Amino acid sequence: MTNSFLKIVLFCICGLAHFTVSAQTDSNEVKEDLRHYANALAAPYMYGRGYVDKGLAKATKYIESQFRKNDIEPGPGMGTYRQNYDFAVNTFPGTVSLTVNGKKLIPGRDFLVDATSGSCSVTDLPIAHADLSTMGTGKAWKRAARRLSRDTAWILSGTDSFCAANGVSSRTLVSLLPKGCFLLPVHSKQSWTVGRTSHEATLMYVYDTVLPATPTSLSMTVEARMNYSFDACNVVGKIPGRVTDTYLVFTAHYDHLGRMGSAVFPGASDNASGVALMLHLAAWYAKHPQKYTMIFIAFSGEEAGLLGSDYFVKHPLFHPERIKFLTNLDIMGDATAGITVVNGAVLTRQFDMLTTINEEKHYLPQVKSRGQSANSDHYHFSQVGVPAFFIYSMGGKGFYHDIYDQPSELTFTNIPNVALLLKDFIGRLQE
Ligand SMILES: [Zn+2]
Repeated sequence: MTNSFLKIVLFCICGLAHFTVSAQTDSNEVKEDLRHYANALAAPYMYGRGYVDKGLAKATKYIESQFRKNDIEPGPGMGTYRQNYDFAVNTFPGTVSLTVNGKKLIPGRDFLVDATSGSCSVTDLPIAHADLSTMGTGKAWKRAARRLSRDTAWILSGTDSFCAANGVSSRTLVSLLPKGCFLLPVHSKQSWTVGRTSHEATLMYVYDTVLPATPTSLSMTVEARMNYSFDACNVVGKIPGRVTDTYLVFTAHYDHLGRMGSAVFPGASDNASGVALMLHLAAWYAKHPQKYTMIFIAFSGEEAGLLGSDYFVKHPLFHPERIKFLTNLDIMGDATAGITVVNGAVLTRQFDMLTTINEEKHYLPQVKSRGQSANSDHYHFSQVGVPAFFIYSMGGKGFYHDIYDQPSELTFTNIPNVALLLKDFIGRLQE
């Protein structure tokens, strides 16, 4: 090896090392930025960005403040960032408690109350078993239901065949039950939801591992309150481009499940992480305006059934035809195994563009394609012909719609590279 060749090699190695170190520093800075946003949105005082303690309203204000800080304008034709609407939602602002055989169980960890349950308050009720599979359908079931006395708490079994015979899903079982207290022992992991109606029965899903071998008595309190007109809003920001009537849109829902009694669902991965990435991109694009106008929409009502995006599509601020492309970000806390792209199998040209960039730049270990799915806010846009991807990350421990979806669990592994991939993709869409 000659001396000069060695110098060249050393120069190259040092240069590469320098590049690697600075790329690493950039990546760490982006992670810090993402963590900052996600920690704020999933903080205890946000109460799961839901329906009690003004959780959603606090998150709205936070996102507005970030838009304002970065000189992002309100959406097209808007005087403020807010697009207001309302919907009905069942809430649990008071006590949610369950004691079986004198043992107090922990809400969120040991049990979940069905999100469409009504209120109840009972003390030391005897427990009996009710096998619903033997209780028929229609009128026969109505007669049988009358025999499920309110002076007893009922542990249910045979619910799967009962639901199938009565044409309801296991998720809407409570709608068929009479007023009273019901426990459904469950073994597999349960996820909580948002209820938009209220039923007279109170149904709790209890992990069988925490139930005593012979449950004989229980005390149960559920303070449910139906809010028929919950005020929600979508938060919409704009960064004008040289072309003012063609839009590139990023969306991420900022609502989560809120609070079930004392159990708070912080929704760090779902979807403080996606909003964090969207806010990070918005701050970057504010400093780097594009050819087309960039729109950033934080949707509410997603967990209640894609309500915010549905409202937006039905009350658009601009013609959906003017959207060149929409990218929805939901669950962006850990891309150790890469990302999945919903609609990748539908919009093959744009998906090829994305994977080509990834192959050139080696950003992510995998960019996986999926067909259409009604599983996030891209859906209503796709239905009216807007080319839209929904991108979610693959990694992490899989905490989902539970009390463990905490900001401390977000690693943001590879998410800075998702940001780079998206910036390149947006760049190529404008060529
Ligand atoms: Zn989500």
